[in-house]
Amino acid sequence: MSNPDKLSRRRFIQAGGAALAGSAFGATPATATAATAGDAKQPTAPALHKLLRKAAIPASRGARVVVVGGGWSGLTMAKYLKRFNPAFDVVLIDRQSAFVSFPVSNAWLADQVTLEFLSHSFFEAANNHGYLFMQATALGFDFESRRVYTEQGYVEYDYLVLAPGIEYDYSRIGVDDTEAQNLLFHRYPGGFVTSSELLTIKQKIHRFKGGTFVLTVPNGDYRCSAAPYERACMVAAVFKRRRISAKVLLLDMNSEITIKKAGFSRAFEQLYGDFIEYLPSSEISSVDIEGRRVVTEFDEFPFDDAIIYPPVRASSLIEEAGIDNPQDSQKAANTDPFRYHLVDDERVYVTGDSRSQPFSKGGHTAHSEAQYVAEVIAAHALGREVRWRSPQTMCFSAVDIEPLRAMSIITYYKFDKQSGLFAFDRTHLMDKWDTQGGQASLAWAEGMYRDMFYL
Ligand SMILES: Cc1cc2nc3c(=O)[nH]c(=O)nc-3n(C[C@H](O)[C@H](O)[C@H](O)COP(=O)(O)OP(=O)(O)OC[C@H]3O[C@@H](n4cnc5c(N)ncnc54)[C@H](O)[C@@H]3O)c2cc1C
Repeated sequence: MSNPDKLSRRRFIQAGGAALAGSAFGATPATATAATAGDAKQPTAPALHKLLRKAAIPASRGARVVVVGGGWSGLTMAKYLKRFNPAFDVVLIDRQSAFVSFPVSNAWLADQVTLEFLSHSFFEAANNHGYLFMQATALGFDFESRRVYTEQGYVEYDYLVLAPGIEYDYSRIGVDDTEAQNLLFHRYPGGFVTSSELLTIKQKIHRFKGGTFVLTVPNGDYRCSAAPYERACMVAAVFKRRRISAKVLLLDMNSEITIKKAGFSRAFEQLYGDFIEYLPSSEISSVDIEGRRVVTEFDEFPFDDAIIYPPVRASSLIEEAGIDNPQDSQKAANTDPFRYHLVDDERVYVTGDSRSQPFSKGGHTAHSEAQYVAEVIAAHALGREVRWRSPQTMCFSAVDIEPLRAMSIITYYKFDKQSGLFAFDRTHLMDKWDTQGGQASLAWAEGMYRDMFYL
């Protein structure tokens, strides 16, 4: 890497101090983490000492690959790195103690699966697949001496994979003040970044007494295009089952339903005519948190409770490390679009929803992509190359409960040399929701968990 300042000890300490302060909130929205940077206290001497020593993990027994982020991308990556090169010494780092699946969490909100179905142990995955799991928060990097800094010390790597997922960008709905961003995150979480948000949302919908419940759909390339519409169906299904007088007001920042439009439109009309009101082109300009109002360009929408899902961006870890592409509105890393490594460092890879490529931000996409990138890294270590192959996106959406009914879509991607852009390829949409789709959605999730944790 050419810019030494990017890597300096001082720079790491600045980034680390900010991240450390941010981590006091648990997993925070991006802007909250960034915001604490200005007024963050420097770590005290003992804390700093801990940060700068080597982490107490076993010495590496081969080329070490450190994977930051144990979500769909990182878990798959860790497993397949070992599969493609058993000599790799793989360390998976995640700040959370356990994995809770976002896919199928909407069905869980409506009691169609248990929390046990969604929850899995990092230890189990690591033991079954022969890698090491380290529960820690990555705070910063030194790309020259190849180190990842965590609050438990640093870990050296031969290859580094960054798969830290997304964060919310509240500034894109007019909430710029960092205190307000934190308040909004805690009071009306979007449910797309941390498992605590999901627990809060479940409480909200099961305790809701009636009135207007607002859900928002962000614009741009947001995580799991279908999930906010699926969630509206599941929330409405709970209200319908509870027979409460409640309306789900679905404020969509897009001009129309972005995916599976016919299927969702039919569900909104046929199943939830009395419960869901869908309003497209609702460009949110601000949120009055205390007054409980969402403000758009032309209107104001009072609510009794809400799930506010704002536009998203890549994890701020990437921007803080100075490896983001400044042209990219989501602050994704500047990577090779086919090989996933930083344009000027073939030892550092970025995958999953943090990637720079415009593939659908989905767990299935991250899972199939990680298998390919693991192969790329294994080949690189042997001085070989692997031919590019497209990730596969597969996404089920539940629309009804008791019995669970769902629809699905599968797609691939192709690179158009003329435009220099990726486009969808071989898309197959099944937007007639039925019980077979419902069962298939659960079987799909079970298969994914089995692959990432048990097989
Ligand atoms: C409600 C909902 C429904 C969905 N439904 C589907 C679906 O049906 N099908 C589908 O394919 N996808 C679905 N998705 C999308 C899917 O969950 C994401 O696309 C997927 O999780 C992306 O994987 P990832 O590994 O990139 O990120 P994540 O799964 O978010 O993993 C990132 C990990 O990085 C960790 N991390 C972040 N920063 C640090 C740090 N500094 N140090 C250490 N660890 C860190 C986090 O703790 C996290 O575990 C859904 C999402 C939601 C929210």
